[in-house]
Formats: sequence, structure tokens, C-alpha cells
Amino acid sequence: MDRGEVIMEKTLAIIKPDATERNLIGDIIKMIEMNNFKLKRINSVYMTVSIAEEFYAMHSEKPFFKSLVDYMTSGMVVVLELEKNNAIEDFRKLIGTTNPEDAEEGTIRKKFAIDKSHNSIHGSDSLESANREISILFG
Ligand code: UDP
Ligand code: MG
Repeated sequence: MDRGEVIMEKTLAIIKPDATERNLIGDIIKMIEMNNFKLKRINSVYMTVSIAEEFYAMHSEKPFFKSLVDYMTSGMVVVLELEKNNAIEDFRKLIGTTNPEDAEEGTIRKKFAIDKSHNSIHGSDSLESANREISILFG
């Protein structure tokens, strides 16, 4: 029964190398905070190849896997654990579609992403992914 309870959820965000390189960390965190996500943990990381390969293991057979791992290990990333009611779905909405050309106005990717590979931000796509990704990047 839906009694309108607030179900707090956690999700995992990554500000990707194309965004840290272009000095967009502050702008992106501002959008995240303005949309009522609470920053629970934050860390700057240089991903190793093995962490990037583990993180994106579901894409290991895709043609873009090698370039994705190269890109994610090419510079600093900022890893954020975010908390909010309905955080996982709401954060995917805030970031927009993978390809910024298709993303809605007002989304992080529409505003900042370069293209579908260099798309500035990651967000977990399910509760299972969020738990898995938080454990990979925060232990
Ligand atoms: N990606 C890519 N080429 C593609 C599709 C995806 O380089 O054709 C990269 C891109 O950085 C994307 C990441 O791989 O964000 C993970 O892909 P996914 O389809 O899971 O997109 P997301 O969940 O990030 O929207
Ligand atoms: Mg994904």
C-alpha cells in the first residue's frame, strides 16, 4: 500500500574526465545540490584500468569497451554517493540520455556533455547497480 512514505535511496555518481578537465566540477555539483540530492561521500580518484574494467564489466563485449576504459582512466574523476527519496530514478532523469544530442533541456548531459562517449557524468541505473558501484568505489 502506498502511504506516500519517503524511501531514502543512495546512488553513485561520477563526474567524468571530460568534465573535470573543463573545470565543470563546481557547476555539476551545484546542479546536483539544487535538485535536493544530499552528498553523503565525495572522493577524487584516478581510476586504474582494473577498477574501470570492473566498474564497466557489463560492457566488456561492446565495441566501445576499450575506448571507455581508456577515457575513464585518462584523468581525475569525482565520485559521489548521493542520497534522496527515489535517488536512483531521479538522478538518471537529472543526468539525461547517454547521447547528449537526445537529452532533455535542463539535464546535466544536455548542458555539459561533449558526445555520447564523453558525456560528463555517470549515474547508477538500478538499486543493484547502485549497491555494486558504491561498494567498488567506496569499499
Ligand atoms: N559509451 C560509449 N559509446 C557508446 C555507448 C556508451 O563510449 O556507444 C560510454 C559512455 O561514456 C556511457 C558509458 O559508455 O556513459 C556506459 O554506457 P551506458 O550505455 O551504460 O550509458 P549510461 O548508463 O552511462 O547512460
Ligand atoms: Mg549504464
